[in-house]
Amino acid sequence: MLGLMQDWPLLCHRIIDHAATLHGARQVISRSVEGPIHATDYATIRTRARKVAQRLERDGIRLGDRVGTLAWNTWRHLEVWYGILGLGAVYHTVNPRLFPDQIAWIVNDAQDRVMIADLTFVPILEKLADKLPTVERYVILTDANNMPATTLRNAVAYEDWIAEVDGDFEWRVFDENTAAGMCYTSGTTGHPKGVVYSHRSNVLHSMIACMPDAMGISSRDVVMPVVPMFHANCWGIALSAPMMGAALIMPGAKLDGPSVYELLAKYQVTFTAAVPTVWLMLLQHLEATGAKLPDLKRVVIGGSASPRAMIKTFQDVYGVEVVHAWGMTEMSPLGSLCSLKPEYAGLEGEARLDIQQKQGHPPFGVEMKITDDAGRELPWDGKTFGRLKVRGPAVARAYYKGEGDEAFESDGFFDTGDVATMDANGYMQITDRSKDVIKSGGEWISSIDLENLAVGHPKVLEAAVIGVRHPKWDERPLLIVVLKKEQTVTKDELLDFMRGKVAHWWLPDDVVVVDDIPHTATGKILKTALRDRFKDYVLPTVQAAE
Ligand code: ADP
Repeated sequence: MLGLMQDWPLLCHRIIDHAATLHGARQVISRSVEGPIHATDYATIRTRARKVAQRLERDGIRLGDRVGTLAWNTWRHLEVWYGILGLGAVYHTVNPRLFPDQIAWIVNDAQDRVMIADLTFVPILEKLADKLPTVERYVILTDANNMPATTLRNAVAYEDWIAEVDGDFEWRVFDENTAAGMCYTSGTTGHPKGVVYSHRSNVLHSMIACMPDAMGISSRDVVMPVVPMFHANCWGIALSAPMMGAALIMPGAKLDGPSVYELLAKYQVTFTAAVPTVWLMLLQHLEATGAKLPDLKRVVIGGSASPRAMIKTFQDVYGVEVVHAWGMTEMSPLGSLCSLKPEYAGLEGEARLDIQQKQGHPPFGVEMKITDDAGRELPWDGKTFGRLKVRGPAVARAYYKGEGDEAFESDGFFDTGDVATMDANGYMQITDRSKDVIKSGGEWISSIDLENLAVGHPKVLEAAVIGVRHPKWDERPLLIVVLKKEQTVTKDELLDFMRGKVAHWWLPDDVVVVDDIPHTATGKILKTALRDRFKDYVLPTVQAAE
């Protein structure tokens, strides 16, 4: 017997319809790439998104065609997403921080037919254009006044392009499992891998994201996604904020501390989300200027482990609640968020931080387990760690073109490549990425735990720990630190600070101070580059062992 309820496919463009109809006047404010602040609302965004769909169709774009975007978070990028979605084409966000050759590889793999790009990226596209045979036209997100002279094929200013149609366009209706968007994981080894979201997975993910124990966004929030739309599906915010009718503040190209602060303060942002490196810049700015953020209620920190010191500063100094979150491009991307269940809600001080440092519990819609290498499930005791595996309606079941499919197991679980513990209350804590974990004498040392501890030292700005070859132990940890301005530190000072807070044999064998730690295109510490740089490093303990 079938249920007798309506078949209402979960289509992403229904989100902008809802926003325009129920929250039409809600503001969407952006720092434009040209410079000035721009204000619009959901009703206008829908009107212009319809023009995008109509104009793309006139350019020959059809259901399933890929449209690339190389763009910052602005109102125009949002219009473009919804226009593409409402036509049944597929938005493909390209991360401009990747190496040019990787950008070319990704655009070719996805076979983008149109590339919609910000002014910032015209020079890079001009250099690459010869290598992008599938791209028939470039749309530059600006108006005629700011349109540069360019050699790009069929280049047109966005405002001129959409002005050629009247917006009389009905959203297309199709199966909810139709592809909606594509995003490639950075692929620290091998080629990047394409993740293909469906309309259904995006809509379900947005609903999941808004639940109170997840991001808990409401129509009363003013939401600023500092996380770019090209990083892991914008952590869902480009869809979930309009779904809830929350006001949106889009930071454009400027993600430095003073610029982010300016928007947070001026527009009384209540909710924001980004990777730790962004928050590091903001906190430095706040510390230097003595500024405060009285309106900000919650900040989501994810993409890399949030240092404990960062959680503490946000909460104790600025009165902002931190929600530590974990996820992956393959999960749309939310996997777990660290809101406090009643079991933990009463905790204070260090005990509370102990929990908040965990990556949290999965919401409904994400199933999670940890296993050993043979696939046997491991206990949720907060100590035993194993391979973290996930399953759910917004988790990938394959990569585009079947790349790397060994991660997708026969029971429907996806092996995340992360190593984690689960505690009795279902809180997950990432020990490490499996390739970053340090293998010392057959035991594992968590680089994340050591990094966290090191950045707790008042003189340390950023820390990375990598395994360095050791004849006796296989690998031993090397601590690499960037210091705060005009600070100096000795190795013993740092090691003494860490001593007693981790097992004795976890303590790094050596400490190196550097000017800068390299980051990936999504703001994570680039461990591969560090391992390369220090591959011939001789630890003092090696000399002692020989
Ligand atoms: P990319 O590999 O392209 O940077 P993702 O953003 O999808 O793409 O990276 C996902 C990975 O980031 C996770 O598998 C995990 O290793 C790491 N990660 C994400 N959030 C956290 C977190 N809160 N703590 C520790 N690691 C995290």
